[in-house]
Amino acid sequence: MRIDDLDTPRVVPGAADTIMQQLEHLALLWDGEVTFQSRNIHHYADALRQLHEQGRLYRCSCSRRIISASAPHMGEEGPIYPGTCRHRGLSERNSAWRINTSGVVISFSDIVYGKQQQHLEHEVGDFPLRRNDGVFNYQLAVVIDDYLAGVNQVIRGRDLLFSTPRQIFLHHCLGYTVPQFGHLPLALATNGEKISKRHHQVNITAMTRRSDLLVDVLEFLGQNPPSFLRDEPPDVIMAWAVNAFDFSLIPQRDRQITATPSS
Ligand SMILES: [Zn+2]
Repeated sequence: MRIDDLDTPRVVPGAADTIMQQLEHLALLWDGEVTFQSRNIHHYADALRQLHEQGRLYRCSCSRRIISASAPHMGEEGPIYPGTCRHRGLSERNSAWRINTSGVVISFSDIVYGKQQQHLEHEVGDFPLRRNDGVFNYQLAVVIDDYLAGVNQVIRGRDLLFSTPRQIFLHHCLGYTVPQFGHLPLALATNGEKISKRHHQVNITAMTRRSDLLVDVLEFLGQNPPSFLRDEPPDVIMAWAVNAFDFSLIPQRDRQITATPSS
């Protein structure tokens, strides 16, 4: 269990406790102690130094506005940084650190979405590892956190599929073993927007509601749970799921869900 609290200004006090309590209510349990991303910052600094010694990093003083105005191409996440500062040899302390992605092509096989390939320089551009205000980039942090925790399989939403090649690139550069990746389709609200923790609060205090919620999720993931499970407590449903779960049944398509999560 790791709490991703790197973006300190956005961290809501008490949110971590609520999340862990809700997971326990759903019989989703974890091994070992809870770790916090904000306590790994010295490891991120070490990795940044290692990448710098490899000659892969450079300082960039471009503002968001300059990048928007100078980038010749738009990517999935906005304007693609064209490497303006790559050879400028900047040394200002309050500038960002970027990693050179020149000619880097990353291929991998996703457990759900199959073969993937991304030309980092053309599709993403040299990306920042540390912002000009000193905050480490999520892509770097998550790679180091997963390495430190010995994570060998990453399962998460399809909205992070596009970030995965950047993380694999960093795993390669730092000499880590690349974990296996699997991305899941997204649950959309009836208006087509992604359902996220920012928009809804899930009320899982009632036991019947918890069991229905777990069975709904298993159905969403294509696992065909038997209907009698709706009358069982969360730990029985999870025991069934651990035993029967089949990655090959997960659909690739995002789907709208009609159930109202807040009640
Ligand atoms: Zn720049």
